[in-house]
Amino acid sequence: MNHREDNQACFVVATKNEDKVREIREILKDFPFRIMTMTEAGVTDEIEEDGATFRENALIKARAVHEKVGGYVMADDSGLAIDALHGAPGILSARFCGKDTGYHEKIQALWDLLADIPLAERTAHFVCAIAVIRPDSSYFTVEEQLDGIFYDKICGEHGFGYDPVFFLPDKGMTTAELDPAEKNRISHRGKALQAMLAELKKT
Ligand code: IMP
Repeated sequence: MNHREDNQACFVVATKNEDKVREIREILKDFPFRIMTMTEAGVTDEIEEDGATFRENALIKARAVHEKVGGYVMADDSGLAIDALHGAPGILSARFCGKDTGYHEKIQALWDLLADIPLAERTAHFVCAIAVIRPDSSYFTVEEQLDGIFYDKICGEHGFGYDPVFFLPDKGMTTAELDPAEKNRISHRGKALQAMLAELKKT
């Protein structure tokens, strides 16, 4: 399929996650882009994320899709970094303790590793990197973070992954207790999408 048959540039999002695509559609609503998932663009391959950083992994995913479809391609990579664990689980956040292990087990394993660390020193960050490749193969990356504490209790029902243990001292609650719209506004992903938008507006 030739994605450049029409006048609108295609903007392919290298993810199969519909929620992410919806958020990106909203944020890019004033751009003359036709936003498509990689599946809609005909790319169904599993892409191996073997980079050493969030930015590298985002770029690996974006490049793999760009090689197949051209146009604009964006990909993101995100995770949780705990300072006392030298940034772990980091780029392995989804695969920590095995990709099929549930979050209660992942969280318990992290609590075990942090057993000797007082709560105030369990500082942590949600990090999100985004890579965008342009039609001429030039690219840029952005990275943003949300700072918090890896909490010692499970609190809240919203969100996913590590949200019930990601405590925001300013708000006095975890990201799983925050209203989802408020989380999107202040989150690592929300801020990285805004940084991407600002960069796209420059070119
Ligand atoms: P991905 O970038 O969608 O592959 O997400 C990587 C992993 O990082 C997720 O599976 C979660 O374990 C963790 N993660 C990233 N962002 C968040 C968040 O906003 N809340 C909770 N966990 C997150």
